[in-house]
Amino acid sequence: MAKFGRVIIDIASSIIDKVFDYELDENIEVGSRVLVPFGNQTKEGYLIEITENTSFDKSKIKKIIKPLENFPVIKKDQFLLASFLKKKYNIGMCDSIRLFLPSEMRTGKVKDLFENICIIDEEKAKEYLSNLRKNAHKQIGAITYLLEKGSAVSAELNNMFGAGISKILSDNEVVKIVSKPILRKPLKNLENITNNVVLTKTQQNVVDIISAGQGNYLLHGVTGSGKTEVYMALMKKVIQDGKTGIMLVPEISLTPQVLSNFRSRFGDDVAIMHSGLSAGERFDEWKRILLGKVKIVVGARSAIFAPIENLGIIIIDEEHDGSYTSDSHPRYHTIEVAEERAKICGASLVLGSATPDLEAYHKAITHEYKLLEMKERVNKKPLPPLTIVDMGEEIRHGNTGIFSIALEDALKKTIESGNQAMIFINRRGYSSFLMCKECGFVAKCQNCDSNLVYHKYENVLKCHFCAARYKVFTECPECHSKNLKLGSVGTQQVVNEIEYLFPNVKVLRMDNDTTSQKNGHYNILSKFRNGEAQVLVGTQMIAKGHDFPAVTLVGIIDADQSLYQSSYTATERTFQLITQVAGRAGRADLQGNIILQTYVPRHYVYRLASMYDYLAFYKKEANLREITNFPPFAKIIRILFTSEDESLAKNTTKLYYDKVKELQTKFDNQFIYIGASKSPVGRIQNKYRYQIMVRLRLEKADEIISQLYNLADELKNQKISCFVEINPQSLS
Ligand code: ADP
Ligand code: ZN
Ligand code: ZN
Repeated sequence: MAKFGRVIIDIASSIIDKVFDYELDENIEVGSRVLVPFGNQTKEGYLIEITENTSFDKSKIKKIIKPLENFPVIKKDQFLLASFLKKKYNIGMCDSIRLFLPSEMRTGKVKDLFENICIIDEEKAKEYLSNLRKNAHKQIGAITYLLEKGSAVSAELNNMFGAGISKILSDNEVVKIVSKPILRKPLKNLENITNNVVLTKTQQNVVDIISAGQGNYLLHGVTGSGKTEVYMALMKKVIQDGKTGIMLVPEISLTPQVLSNFRSRFGDDVAIMHSGLSAGERFDEWKRILLGKVKIVVGARSAIFAPIENLGIIIIDEEHDGSYTSDSHPRYHTIEVAEERAKICGASLVLGSATPDLEAYHKAITHEYKLLEMKERVNKKPLPPLTIVDMGEEIRHGNTGIFSIALEDALKKTIESGNQAMIFINRRGYSSFLMCKECGFVAKCQNCDSNLVYHKYENVLKCHFCAARYKVFTECPECHSKNLKLGSVGTQQVVNEIEYLFPNVKVLRMDNDTTSQKNGHYNILSKFRNGEAQVLVGTQMIAKGHDFPAVTLVGIIDADQSLYQSSYTATERTFQLITQVAGRAGRADLQGNIILQTYVPRHYVYRLASMYDYLAFYKKEANLREITNFPPFAKIIRILFTSEDESLAKNTTKLYYDKVKELQTKFDNQFIYIGASKSPVGRIQNKYRYQIMVRLRLEKADEIISQLYNLADELKNQKISCFVEINPQSLS
C-alpha cells in the first residue's frame, strides 16, 4: 500500500508555512531531511509524519526524491517543542525547526573528516618480519605492536614509530590502509583539573532536594556560595540514574576554566556547544549528541535545542543574564523554552543566580518554582564591604577626574600590597563616537540611523547594527574642521589615567575592541589570572563569574549608566551588575573591597546593593512594578514593522494601530497602554522601522496576544515584515 509523507518545506520566514503531502516509497524515518519537488524546483524539507492516506488528489501527488542523510535529524520531543515555539512566538514551523539544527547542516559547508587506519595482514607481516634486519627497530616495533592490536590509526603509528612508518608497511603490503569517517573533538588541550571537593551541608541539602523528584527550582545563592559544585553533583547524579542533562551558561562565561572543569569530570560524556568552535567541530559535537554518544551538553543559550534524549535535568546558570533572550529573529526567551522542554521530557529545571530575575523570583514567591537558598559563601567570608562615593561631591571639592579620591587611594594600596584590582566601566561595549568639535557632526551609518563606533584596535568605524565598516576620517565632512574628537569615556581613557597615576603598573583592557580576535577574551583573562597585570579594566564582559583569587579591589566607575536605559528593567539590571561585579572581590582568603562611583548616591538600588539585600530590593522593585503595571504584573508587547518602503511601513503601522484600538473596545479594561511611533533606531540595513507598544493586564493577555499575532499575519507580506515580541529587553 502506498504511504504518504507530510513535509515542511525549508524556506525561512516564509509565507508558505504549510505542510505538504508527498508519496513515499522508500523507508525514510520520520524526522529526516528530504529532497522534494516543489513547483518546478526541488527543495529541502523535513518529513514530520508518515500517513496511510492523504486528502490531496492522489493522481497529482509527487514523490519524495530522496532522504538527505541516512538518519533523522529531529526527534519527537524536539518536534513537540518546535510546535510550541511556533505557537508561542508566532514564527514559522521552518524557522522553529531550524533552531534545532546546526546551520552547517543546511548550507552543507562541513565535510566529514576521515582518518586512515592500518589493518595488519598477519601472514604477510610474520613473513616480512622474519626477513627484516635486526636493527630495523622501528619496523619491528610497529609490526609487533600491530600483531598485538590488529589495527591502529596511521597518524598514531607514525607518532610512535617514526614518520612514514605506515607508508612503508603499506608499500610492502604488510598493512592495508582504509579511510574511516571520524568526529572532530573540540578543545583537545583543555587542562585536567583534579578536584576532590566534598560538598558542604548546605550544598548537599540542595542536591538532595532537587534529586528527590521532578520539579522547577530556583537556586538563589550569593556569589561564592558554591553553585557550580551543586550543578556538577546534580549532573553526576543524573548520569548515575541513567539519564542526561543540559547545562546552559552565558556565552561569555564559557571560559576554558569552566570547560576544563566539565571535561575533567565527565570526559567524553560531555559535549560542548559554543561559538568559539569551528563549524566542523560544532557540527560533529551536534552529531555526537544526536547519535546518543553524550550524556551532558554544556553550552550557551542555543544548547537548549540540543538533540539529546532521555533528559533528566536542565540547569541554567546565571539565569538572569540578558544573553538568554534572543533579540533577533526568531526571538525567544530561553527560560520559557527550557520550562516547556522540561515539561515535555519530564525533566527537572534548575535556575541558578545570585540575583534572580525579578520574574523568576516572583514565580518562586508564588510557588511556581521551589525556592532553594544558599546564603553564605563556601569560605564563610562575609561579602566584601561596598562603599558608595558621591561624584557630585567630588566635583564640588574640585576633583573632576575619572577617579574619586577614595578609589585612587584604594588602587594605590592594592597595588602596593601586590594584589590585583578590577575597574569596571558600566557599559556594554566600547562606545566611542567620532565627533566634530566645531559643528557637532557625528559620524553615522549610511544604512542605519545609528552612530558609528570607533574601534581602536582595527582603526575603523563600525556600525553595530549592520556591521558595516567605514574608514576613519581626519577631517569633518560637514565643515572641514580637523578638530575631531572621540566622545564619551572609554576603557582606553581609564587605562591611560591608571598608567599616568601608576607608571610602573601593568594594565590589561577588556572590551569589544580587545576581544574581537578569536579567543581574545580568553587570552586577556588568562593573562590577568596568571598575574601578568595588576589591573584589569573592562566593560560588562568582566562582570561574569570569573574567579580571580588575587583580586581584592573592584572599582565601579560610572554605575549610573545602566540606570538610565529606557527599559523597565534598568534598575534591576543595575542591581544585578553591581552585585555581580562586587562578587569578583575577595573570593579567596584575602579581604575584598568595592568602591562604587555615582551621581545619585541615595538611590535605593545602591543602598540595597551595598547591603547585598536582594530580598529587600526585590520587594521594593516588585512593589513599584505592581503599582505602575509593569512585568511580571503586566505584559508588554512590541509589534515591529520593517520595510524598505517607508510609507508602507508607516501606513501598515497605522492600520495595525487602528485594529488594536478596535481590540481595546472589545476587551474592556485590559489595555493599559497603546502607542505607535518610529522605532528608537528608525532604520537598520536600509529598512525603515515603525512600532506599536502595547501593555496588557495579565488576566486576558494570552488571548489578546494570539489575536495580535493573527493581525500581524494578515498584514505582513513580501514587502513588509512584522515581528511581535513579548516583554522586550532592548528596544532598538
Ligand atoms: P558561585 O557560582 O555560587 O559564585 P562557585 O561555585 O564559584 O560559587 O564557588 C566559589 C568557590 O568555592 C570556588 O572557588 C569553588 O571551587 C569553591 N567551592 C565550592 N564548593 C566547595 C566545597 N564544597 N569545598 C571547598 N570549596 C568549594
Ligand atoms: Zn564639523
Ligand atoms: Zn549600519
